[in-house]
Amino acid sequence: MNIQSLSVCVPAGCPNNCAYCVSAMNNQPDNTYENLAQLTLRRRRGLTVRQEEEYDLLWQQYADRMAFARDNGCNTMMITSNGEALVNMEFILALCDMNVSLQQPFRWIELQTSGITLTDNRLDLLRSHHISTISLSLADIFDDHTNAYINGIEPKFQFALEDMCRRIKQHGFNLRLSLNMSDVYNDIPPEEIFARAAELGANQVTFRKLFLSDIYKGTPQAQWIENHPYIRDVSIERTTSPVEDGFASFQDWVYHHTDGMRDIEEYVLRHGTPLELLPFGAMRYSVHGLSTVVDLNCMNKGVKDDGSVKYLILRPDCHLYTRWDDKGSLLF
Ligand code: SF4
Repeated sequence: MNIQSLSVCVPAGCPNNCAYCVSAMNNQPDNTYENLAQLTLRRRRGLTVRQEEEYDLLWQQYADRMAFARDNGCNTMMITSNGEALVNMEFILALCDMNVSLQQPFRWIELQTSGITLTDNRLDLLRSHHISTISLSLADIFDDHTNAYINGIEPKFQFALEDMCRRIKQHGFNLRLSLNMSDVYNDIPPEEIFARAAELGANQVTFRKLFLSDIYKGTPQAQWIENHPYIRDVSIERTTSPVEDGFASFQDWVYHHTDGMRDIEEYVLRHGTPLELLPFGAMRYSVHGLSTVVDLNCMNKGVKDDGSVKYLILRPDCHLYTRWDDKGSLLF
């Protein structure tokens, strides 16, 4: 089995209210995955010897699953959450300590966050715990107010992106900007988005198509995504007609020329150098010195067509899964 990345799901709530939040859309009851990992960290007083032993075994079980991914060629750990991972710093630090204690620790560790509560003190801690990349999930990289508004960030947690990025870089991290593409970017050419990412000091940029599925149709999040599409209709003027362009129908032709993600893809193809294929099937490019990924399906499946597992998810119930949205994908 060749596993290319391990996503560790930190048990955490979230004070944000992102308009496009997949967790809220999915609305899994809190008890879908029993939070055993956190229980082992925060043990009640007065446990019996047997209970203490059980908790020790659970923590060991958790470590074993991490080691399993390492044994199968995986060297990339993504620290993520159904909420905001930074809400549970205690867990993140314990996880990193556990990693160090593995026979072969993960060396490439990425933390995915909306950026709230990322103080200098926390950056120091994360760095000293071997996290290498901070990935900021953002709604708008040009306007802090719009970013806070769309992500539903409480006033006390709002931040200035330029200052945040500068501090992340000062602390020696790789900085990835994960751009959640909505109508915020409709009138901004791709080159300006890349220029802004470079200005912010990013090393890596991911363009993320917002997740929509028929299953979640009608939820406030799905409606928001439908009402705020990322479209670039200027390219229609550059084209001739559906027939000349080789499209079967006018609808296909309009879709092709208005989908903003295609515009980004075309730009990346024109200006980028392909680097390698990532576990979930997207290609990584180098564009104007920035490592660039266009992610068309953020809920992508961990199993390839040939049945091989490309990435795994470690849940707080101390088990490994191959899919985000299916409890039946339990591996062991
Ligand atoms: S930070 Fe993540 S979990 Fe929290 S509301 Fe936004 S998308 Fe949802």
